Amino acid sequence: MSNICAVSTPLAEGGISVIRISGENAVSVAAKIFKPLSCESVENMQGYTCAYGRINDGEKVVDDGVLTVFRAPKSYTGEDVAEISCHGGIFVTKQVLRLCLKNGAVLANKGEFTKRALLNGKMSLTQAESIMDTISAQGEYELASANLTREGRLFKKISGVTKRLVKILGELAAWVDYPEEDLPEVEEENLRTSLKESIAVTEKILRDYDNGMVLKRGVDTCIAGKPNVGKSTLMNMLLGYDRSIVTDVAGTTRDVIEESAKIGELTLKLSDTAGIHETDDKVEKIGVEIAKKKLDNAMLIMEVFDTSRPLDDEDKELLEYVKNIGRKTIIVLNKSDLESRIDKGFFNSYSNSIVEISAKNEEGKDSLQSEIEKMFSPEDYDADSTIFANERQMNCAQTADKYLKMALESLDMGETLDAVTVMIDYAANALMELTGEKATEAVVDEVFSKFCVGK
Ligand code: GDP
Repeated sequence: MSNICAVSTPLAEGGISVIRISGENAVSVAAKIFKPLSCESVENMQGYTCAYGRINDGEKVVDDGVLTVFRAPKSYTGEDVAEISCHGGIFVTKQVLRLCLKNGAVLANKGEFTKRALLNGKMSLTQAESIMDTISAQGEYELASANLTREGRLFKKISGVTKRLVKILGELAAWVDYPEEDLPEVEEENLRTSLKESIAVTEKILRDYDNGMVLKRGVDTCIAGKPNVGKSTLMNMLLGYDRSIVTDVAGTTRDVIEESAKIGELTLKLSDTAGIHETDDKVEKIGVEIAKKKLDNAMLIMEVFDTSRPLDDEDKELLEYVKNIGRKTIIVLNKSDLESRIDKGFFNSYSNSIVEISAKNEEGKDSLQSEIEKMFSPEDYDADSTIFANERQMNCAQTADKYLKMALESLDMGETLDAVTVMIDYAANALMELTGEKATEAVVDEVFSKFCVGK
């Protein structure tokens, strides 16, 4: 393998820059440009030691700095690694990098150091991916979940299931292929139990992903209701300031407006819609289409009704529409400060969660907040849960989950063990792709293309 080098710190003015070299002859490359002052020779430096010295281009001194040596396999990449820390100027950093290139190293590709670590068995694919997550983490929660994955927790959890499936596959294959041998028959009940327990793991992992995403990216929340029920006023109440223009003219809120409101630990990504009423107005028609799409994709829908007026067809249309799409729904009965002209019992068949508020007077905010928190309860976010880094991992887990369920279904329907075997095989393969135990080169390349150079 070639000796690769790259600047591992950002190419910007700073205190220190680190130029990293990895490969069989990494230390020899460093020896050609680094003259140690604190020890005899670079070549004789042991792993985990450093030396102070001069960085030279032939006779010319380029900078002074510190060289750190790591010896294979005890390094990030699993190869010999030399890291030169020089002064953090852009020009001087580039000069040191050029010297490395001039003396036998080639420029590293994106993520190539980590890719080598993967190929040398220093980490799993999921651990490699979590490194990018650590680098891009924007908050405590993201950092904590990236750290858990890097510790290998996700890998262990999943490879536990994979091992179990592979064992089952072995037993099934032996039994199907050598029926005349005196092999113990695969107990259907045991098989069923194993499948169920494996499904419990994949389901938990997928649930953790959803919950993790809620904390990471916020809850996509749609505030729906016909014009003039008080959607904008409610949104302002949640946001705590006058965000949208509130008027008495029905249909003021034409566009979908997006804002983020903090409710305890949760972030609600609110969108206020134009309602889904029948209209001949061209612009409003487009708004209605957008609103429906928003409802279809929302994680939480707040349906708003004006209790000071009897319900009309438009209200009922919304209730039916939302009921059919089956999202988490809170029915918000607004204008509680006015005399009620609504039968509140009517809503019971549409949601378990009904809150009365007066958005205008900011009354009922606390009960609305506790309803929201109940739905996305913090207990769901097991701090120890393993959260996927990305869609790639989630898709693999979904595939595995799907095939495990199909295997169980085939078993329940009394299909042949051959058919069951095929499904389990697909599931095991999807899980091995997730952890990288059986990922194709294309998958690995795709993962590392998202890395930065120098990592
Ligand atoms: P939207 O069209 O659903 O966004 O409704 P708006 O938020 O624009 O509100 C329509 C009208 O209802 C405005 O005049 C608001 O001041 C009024 N309104 C909103 N919430 C309340 C409330 O809780 N009580 C009363 N009395 N009026 C309200």
